[in-house]
Amino acid sequence: MQGLMMQQPLLVASLLVHADRHHGDQEIVSRRVEGDIHRYRYRDLAQRARRMANALAALGIEPGERVGTLAWNGYRHMELYFAVSGSGAVLHTLNPRLHVDQLAYIIEHAEDRVVFFDLTFLPLIESIASRVKSPKVFVAMTDREHMEQTCSGSSMLMCYEDLIDLQSDEFDWPLLDENSASSLCYTSGTTGNPKGVLYSHRSTLLHTYAAALPDSLNCSARDVILPVVPMFHVNAWGLPYIACMVGAKLVFPGPALDGQSLYELIETEQVTLSAGVPTVWQGLLSHVAERDGAFSSMRRTIIGGAPCPTAMTVQFQERYDVDVLHAWGMTELSPVGTVCSFKAHQCALSGNDRYAVQAKQGRSVFGIDMKIVDPQGDELAWDGKAAGDLLVRGQWVTRQYFRGDDVSPLRDGWFPTGDVAKIDADGFMQITDRSKDVIKSGGEWISSADIENVACLHPQVTMAVCIAARHPKWDERPLLLVVRQPGSMLTGGELLAFLDGKIAKWWKPDAVIFVESVPLGATGKVLKRQLREQYGNYYL
Ligand code: AMP
Repeated sequence: MQGLMMQQPLLVASLLVHADRHHGDQEIVSRRVEGDIHRYRYRDLAQRARRMANALAALGIEPGERVGTLAWNGYRHMELYFAVSGSGAVLHTLNPRLHVDQLAYIIEHAEDRVVFFDLTFLPLIESIASRVKSPKVFVAMTDREHMEQTCSGSSMLMCYEDLIDLQSDEFDWPLLDENSASSLCYTSGTTGNPKGVLYSHRSTLLHTYAAALPDSLNCSARDVILPVVPMFHVNAWGLPYIACMVGAKLVFPGPALDGQSLYELIETEQVTLSAGVPTVWQGLLSHVAERDGAFSSMRRTIIGGAPCPTAMTVQFQERYDVDVLHAWGMTELSPVGTVCSFKAHQCALSGNDRYAVQAKQGRSVFGIDMKIVDPQGDELAWDGKAAGDLLVRGQWVTRQYFRGDDVSPLRDGWFPTGDVAKIDADGFMQITDRSKDVIKSGGEWISSADIENVACLHPQVTMAVCIAARHPKWDERPLLLVVRQPGSMLTGGELLAFLDGKIAKWWKPDAVIFVESVPLGATGKVLKRQLREQYGNYYL
């Protein structure tokens, strides 16, 4: 027998419609690329998103086609979040920290029809335009005046404000299939070329419900949320959608992610909840400590993307009375998987016992199941001791990469995360290692294989191995171990200069160590784990 409830698809546009109708007066504040502060309300967001939906139709964007963005966290980016997905196209957020060749590859692979960009990225757009084969429309996310100041001579560009000025603000959001694609985000956290994760309206809405819950990111209409985590990195952990769902005030930092700018914004806008990777918070904490400041409104901060150091948790909580919510997720998980919020019996814990719990990545939110397995695939006990490959499954976990090679990444219906973890009897997961061969620096991925390949092009290099070494500021930085050709006097400086221009600047290893040989396993594979044990603390 069928239930007799209304059939309403779970659609991204419905979040905006809700925010418009029920929280229309709520504010959205953005620090703009142009330097000033912009503020408006959900009502204005909804109106401008409808205009942009009309503009996309006028550009000939069809349902299912991809629309790229290369932009900071700001209101125009938010408008595109809803205009693009809401009208049936696919919002493709691009990570400007990638090398221009990778960006060009991703734009071609996704077949983006249009790319919207913040003025900061004009030089990047010009380099991309000369590399992509199919003609694209590029739209500068600014007004005519700023465009004329910055982009004179670039005839291929359109202007965001011109585009929507011409349009009506009447637009009926189409009743889409909830399983149709809403957005796309490429991840470099795998080996090989970046891979696309294609979210659906349904997965996005279910993720939004679950991530907003009290034991998840704990968001409400009384919150003022500052997503420092970029909107190009897994949709700023879903916070733009969550804010619409709960009617929270949103504060966007734009390009200014330094401690002073963030602190000013937190205090002037009375932010209650912020979210970002540990590296960003380090800058903020140093700034506040230097001026002997305090947080007058911020009570919670979500820290994820990399392990949250206990010293950071202690500082936030003891010195500033800001609760730390340690969370774990992945691009492939939309991203929230686990959040470290206490169970009732843990609330009485104090001191080191409390911090030992908070150092864990946390427990599953409803919708995500997880398990740890040994190399044979057998499930390991949740005893807080056994560590194994972490596998997950759920309604907002990818089952296939976008235009992948048709080989499912799943193992018996579970997604292998590439993280190695243990789980305790309370269901709290703690990451102990990583089986995927990538480096995460300041919350963004660096491909060790790409660096090795480029280093090996040097005629005096016999073998190059790049490992993740722990770093006090960036969490991890690449360290290059090199076997030179016999008799070679190649120096580290010469080799690093050779890498210039061939990889993104911030990918360049901070040091090169010349070694006689590297340890190899039975199948000839480099034993990176052994090298990480030996050299992993090099930068500490
Ligand atoms: P991304 O897809 O770029 O969001 O990266 C996901 C990966 O980042 C995970 O598979 C982990 O390796 C790492 N990661 C994310 N959050 C944490 C965390 N809280 N602690 C440790 N590693 C994390």
